[in-house]
Amino acid sequence: MAAADESRATGSWRELPRRLWAGVRSTWRRSLQVRTVFITIGLSTLAILVIGLYISFSVASNLFQDQRSRVLAASNNATTAAQLILDSSDAADRGSLQLLMQATLDTVTNIAGTDVVAIFRDPAAGALSIAPPDQLSPDLAGVISSDLRSQLQAHPESQYWQSVALENATGGTDPGIVVGSALQFPAGVGRYELYLGYNLAEAQQTLAFMQVTGTVGAIALIALLSAITLVVVRGVIEPIRTTASTSRRLAAGDLGVRIPERGEDELASLAASFNGMADSLQARIRELAELSVMQQRFVSDVSHELRTPLTTIRLAGDVLYGQREDFAGPTARTVELLHTQTERFERLLGDLLEISRYDAGSVTLATEPTNLVHLAGDVIEEMHGLARERGSEVRLEAPGGHLDADVDPRRIRRIVTNLLGNAIEHGEGRPIVVAVDSNATAVALSVRDYGLGMTAEAAERVFDRFWRADPSRVRTIGGTGLGLAISLEDAVAHEGRLDVWSHPGQGSVFRLTLPRSSKARTEAGAAGVESPLPLEPHDPEASGPPPTASVGAILPDDEREVHDA
Ligand code: ADP
Repeated sequence: MAAADESRATGSWRELPRRLWAGVRSTWRRSLQVRTVFITIGLSTLAILVIGLYISFSVASNLFQDQRSRVLAASNNATTAAQLILDSSDAADRGSLQLLMQATLDTVTNIAGTDVVAIFRDPAAGALSIAPPDQLSPDLAGVISSDLRSQLQAHPESQYWQSVALENATGGTDPGIVVGSALQFPAGVGRYELYLGYNLAEAQQTLAFMQVTGTVGAIALIALLSAITLVVVRGVIEPIRTTASTSRRLAAGDLGVRIPERGEDELASLAASFNGMADSLQARIRELAELSVMQQRFVSDVSHELRTPLTTIRLAGDVLYGQREDFAGPTARTVELLHTQTERFERLLGDLLEISRYDAGSVTLATEPTNLVHLAGDVIEEMHGLARERGSEVRLEAPGGHLDADVDPRRIRRIVTNLLGNAIEHGEGRPIVVAVDSNATAVALSVRDYGLGMTAEAAERVFDRFWRADPSRVRTIGGTGLGLAISLEDAVAHEGRLDVWSHPGQGSVFRLTLPRSSKARTEAGAAGVESPLPLEPHDPEASGPPPTASVGAILPDDEREVHDA
């Protein structure tokens, strides 16, 4: 167990970078604000880096050139002054030449502004006892390259320089320049090479200070740019967000929402046009709603108004129908026609009133625990005569475990009657199977016929009011075209569903699914109910996968109750 936990923990740690990356990508995709700020930071950093590097290099190069010219000029002045001293001297012995050397070096260090000096006698001149010895400041030890020396020896009239690293007091090195030139000593002593070392640490420090200041300035500039972008983008994005959320609310039916209009800029004009659109939408929907209410009221009023004359006609018709034996042939037939059409008219009025009650939202369910198997058995019993007349055998298949469902039995009976009536009507005298089943949350009832069936387009329209696949078809029950529309309203009032499967020549399945209790109903309202019965039949008549069992094979045969009507 502990090992499993550990491996899960390791797995989730390994997952972490992937999840982080996914989070970053989704934020990047979803937030315009984040994208704009990051792009601004990226591009301005790049631009500042390029400009900064360019400035830094050109300043460094200028600074070095400036220092070098200064150093070369100073060295030149010092060498000229020293040569003047040497030329005007008449020293000829070792002691006075030694003094002359010291005086020359003092002048050189004074004029050149550096005491880092080295002076070497030309190695090609040969040993001479009166020649003053070479001198070398410790700072220049090992710094003067043989290249520099040989160049100076080859062209003693010129001045040569080289960049070097000079040791400093802390043991590290500073950048420096060594300038070499030649001095001619009197009394046949010959030529000396004079090297002057200059430390450029100060210039280096100036450059470093400038670079640090530049870097800090660049970081501050980038931060400032990001903050400005954030503020500017927020200023634009906030109204867009408000517009998006307002349109979502409008789409969800909250027609009263509007965007606050501020200022006169483009965003204000967007808000104004959005609000204008919402106003006209609201006005139009209100108009349509009023029209719809008026239409519903009209249908309801007309149906109510027609009831009284219809009752009188019905009474008179019943009297005539009762005496039809006494009338001559054609008159008797007319009386019979009057009777059936009056009955149909009454049913139509009843259906219209029911539909207008649904439209007005004045339907309340009178629920009670109801056994759907018994209810289906009763309906089959009632319609037994009609089924036999049409040559159809109706079977009830109900696998075990039939608990009561909390439904309005009058409405459910109406649905079952209508579905069974339609199946008999369109069943072509073939068998009809009514199946009932349940699960933990729902009960379902399906009616399967093997009649004409319908095309996919017809099946889609089957719940429309007054829609009929073939209005000219001979009708036995005399339906009104409102039966399935009312059945659907009844199912929806229970938070249930009414589904249809149909195929031309293979018959149809109508399946009613209802939540079992008011609690399941509330949950179903949000998520929809899972039906315990399949919609598409798996029997030899149906297309699709080959049949594995006979009609309604939901549980093994021994658990199934079969009632023949
Ligand atoms: P009515 O039966 O009164 O005409 P319904 O709303 O009950 O009205 O049905 C509408 C139409 O749907 C029917 O006219 C018929 O064309 C078609 N229909 C309904 N049930 C079936 C079925 N089991 N098989 C074929 N067609 C059907």
